[in-house]
Amino acid sequence: MKDGLIDLHVHTTASDGTYTPREIVKYALQQGIKALAITDHDTIDGVEEALAASQEFGVEVIPGVEIGVDYPGEMHILGYYLDYQNKQLNDGLRLLLQYRDMRNPQMIKKLNELGFDITMKEVKQAAGGEVIGRPHIADVLVTKGFVKDNKEAFEKYLAAGKPAYVPKDRLTPQEGIELITAAGGIPVLAHPKYLDIEEGKSLKELVLSLKEFGLKGIEVYYTTYSQVETAMYLELAENCGLLPTGGTDFHGKNKPEILLGRGEGNLNIPYSILENLKTYRNS
Ligand code: AMP
Ligand code: FE
Ligand code: FE
Ligand code: ZN
Repeated sequence: MKDGLIDLHVHTTASDGTYTPREIVKYALQQGIKALAITDHDTIDGVEEALAASQEFGVEVIPGVEIGVDYPGEMHILGYYLDYQNKQLNDGLRLLLQYRDMRNPQMIKKLNELGFDITMKEVKQAAGGEVIGRPHIADVLVTKGFVKDNKEAFEKYLAAGKPAYVPKDRLTPQEGIELITAAGGIPVLAHPKYLDIEEGKSLKELVLSLKEFGLKGIEVYYTTYSQVETAMYLELAENCGLLPTGGTDFHGKNKPEILLGRGEGNLNIPYSILENLKTYRNS
């Protein structure tokens, strides 16, 4: 068992991962992962089960979430150590579910118009959990033989700009950060690599403006970063007075190339990263 590996970015069946919360904690033990944060898209539904499994399997579990907010490209805000029973948080996340409920049927309608026999009922079944999104629509397209895999489903139909894509309403970056803060959580900018920074603005300026809203950290270790990128984000975090965090964005079979705690085999996120987060939390 490798000493002290952690993974602070993990999806379960509560959103678009393929392991249930209990299964992922058990799997973490098997993989020699000492701690993992459950960070499902727009939901904390998997947290309670994962915390129970933490007791069962002796793997440290951090309650978390990942909220997609309104910004060009992808801006995702991770939240760690939130009080998952907080009312404001639960109300806010319910609103995000409503945004999804408005959007999903429109995407199904577009696919029907493109000639694919696919229903909302099938997509709900594929999702299992309450957060239903494009990966579950992709699953049905694969199961019914309309595309060969998830990747083809996105490339041909579901990615932004493709014929079945429908945008969804989102919180602003400030609202996302404040929602996490309201529940006692630590807000962290996920995978800054996927932001489309406005012309003439630097990533540092953007990050500092998010810090004004309450951002506390940046995801510095991540599956798809090169060593140069990791070094750059680490320096950015230090310069901005933000905590460095890291995780793989594990989704199970939905992103089979990503290994829990190890990314594409190259990640090795030290436990000291989590120690720093905990020190901050208790300060
Ligand atoms: P949604 O929240 O419904 O818009 O779906 C977004 C999720 O779809 C992301 O969290 C990813 O897991 C997945 N996703 C987005 N783009 C792609 C892509 N090009 N290929 C595979 N999965 C993707
Ligand atoms: Fe996802
Ligand atoms: Fe993300
Ligand atoms: Zn993620």
